[in-house]
Amino acid sequence: MAEQNTSENPSPLPYGRQCIDEDDIDAVVAALRSAWLTTGPKVPEFEQRFAEFVDADHAVAVCNGTAALHCAMYAIGIGAGGEVIIPAITFAATANCVAFQGGTPVVADVDEHTLLLDAEDVASRVTEKTKAIIAVDYAGQPCDYDALSAISQKHNLRLVADACHALGGSYRGRPVGSLADISTFSLHPVKAITTGEGGVVATSNPKFASRARTFRNHGITTDHRQREQQGSWFYEMVDLGYNYRITDFQCALGLSQLRKLPQWVRRRQAIAARYNEAFASVPEVEPLVVAPEVSHAYHLYVVQLDLSRVTADRQTIFAELRNKGIGVNVHYIPVHLHPYYQERYGTRPGQCPVAEAAYERIITLPLFPAMQDGDVDRVVTTVGEILNRHRTH
Ligand SMILES: *Cc1c(COP(=O)(O)O)cnc(C)c1O
Repeated sequence: MAEQNTSENPSPLPYGRQCIDEDDIDAVVAALRSAWLTTGPKVPEFEQRFAEFVDADHAVAVCNGTAALHCAMYAIGIGAGGEVIIPAITFAATANCVAFQGGTPVVADVDEHTLLLDAEDVASRVTEKTKAIIAVDYAGQPCDYDALSAISQKHNLRLVADACHALGGSYRGRPVGSLADISTFSLHPVKAITTGEGGVVATSNPKFASRARTFRNHGITTDHRQREQQGSWFYEMVDLGYNYRITDFQCALGLSQLRKLPQWVRRRQAIAARYNEAFASVPEVEPLVVAPEVSHAYHLYVVQLDLSRVTADRQTIFAELRNKGIGVNVHYIPVHLHPYYQERYGTRPGQCPVAEAAYERIITLPLFPAMQDGDVDRVVTTVGEILNRHRTH
């Protein structure tokens, strides 16, 4: 029996969730009935469409976004001793992909209003050993790519976009995926489109694309289907790689999802606009600032609480929202504060003061395309009621 929703007990709203329609299910079923379950025709078809969508020459689909980041680090040649500058506010995988390759993640601070990489702080952390910058399009807002490209060019660094939040966004009219030397995406269910688990590397550099392809297939230069087509069994392993392949039925889902991406991004933007308008009159709630030159993909709707105006801390407000069925979250614990990075790389509290201060007051509110306006209003009302109880004056 379906759960009953009364006004006292409405169903909980998650912070994000996938949209799966009948045509998605049909596409997966058709792939399952075909001759190829993996490394078949749906993989290159998805890659082609994805590359077109993000305006890159090449897309390489892999089994998750973390594998995409690892492929990108390999593709650009990150190895032992290479330093890669990353923002403090990101998911651990942004740092981990550097560590996988024996490199050193160097954590830079973020801008206090956008929580995106602070270009000046990045410039101050460049050393002789710096090889690359990973820009994270936090929450779905593209970074300041003009400033980051200028730093990269000046010091001969590679610019990588961890665009896992920003599929469907753009910067000065150019789509996310075409803004850096190499860009990575995640197709996890909370992200803009999903294949269950999945990831994509996008680049217009043919050498990087070819290296990413080899790396996802054990370091072997041809795949099973290519050998079948050539009537050959011969292959050579030219470098140490991984099995980071994605299946055909996942790519069939990806193709079906990609067709709906533009309408979903528009819906995400409309929900964010509704939140922004409602919170304009709530001084305790400060939505992240959006630069005029971007189209924000709104993977997340993140606000900073002005804790000087309330008697409660973020944890209290978080717990009260969860109790009311509002599936809030916190993105993210600053990466340099994780015990692994403190113990293995000597990172310390205090090295990114802006990110650390922001971390105390950020909260992610529910945002996904299937949310109704009434759901948004319910979040706004609940936030308002909780803040009212804790107001200092
Ligand atoms: C989701 C995400 C990843 C990792 O993607 P998975 O598909 O979960 O491996 C990496 N970086 C960022 C910023 C992400 O949000």
